[in-house]
Amino acid sequence: MSNYGSADHRKLQEKTARELIWTSNRTFQGWTCSQCEWNSPLPTLLSEAEARTAYDRLAAAKFREHKCADHLARLEMVQEQDSFTGRIRKLVTQGFKPKDAVDLFLQEVELEYRNDPKTLARAKADGEDFLRRLKAGLI
Ligand SMILES: [Zn+2]
Repeated sequence: MSNYGSADHRKLQEKTARELIWTSNRTFQGWTCSQCEWNSPLPTLLSEAEARTAYDRLAAAKFREHKCADHLARLEMVQEQDSFTGRIRKLVTQGFKPKDAVDLFLQEVELEYRNDPKTLARAKADGEDFLRRLKAGLI
């Protein structure tokens, strides 16, 4: 059985270049492809910055090598602006310095998720990851 998706999806693939997107939610943390179900989950015990940077590099290399056609097509477009990293990135494109963008973002999420310490911790980790990746030249 072929599972390469509908003609509509193929059209979408032609129109939009695939992107490596950091996804962080309750059930998954790691890199994903904007076009297909390819992903590279973050190993749970990886807490050191250096180890995480190595993981990021490896995931980026694997992403470049994967063929979207070998994986199931994504049913919905991944909306990066809905993710924490996407929100930080948006602030940066608005002209904020990366460090200021992360600070501002954290002020916002502290209000939004004041009753949700788990999500708040995830947002903080995403902010740190963003700055770390920038420093490592990964993004
Ligand atoms: Zn893909």
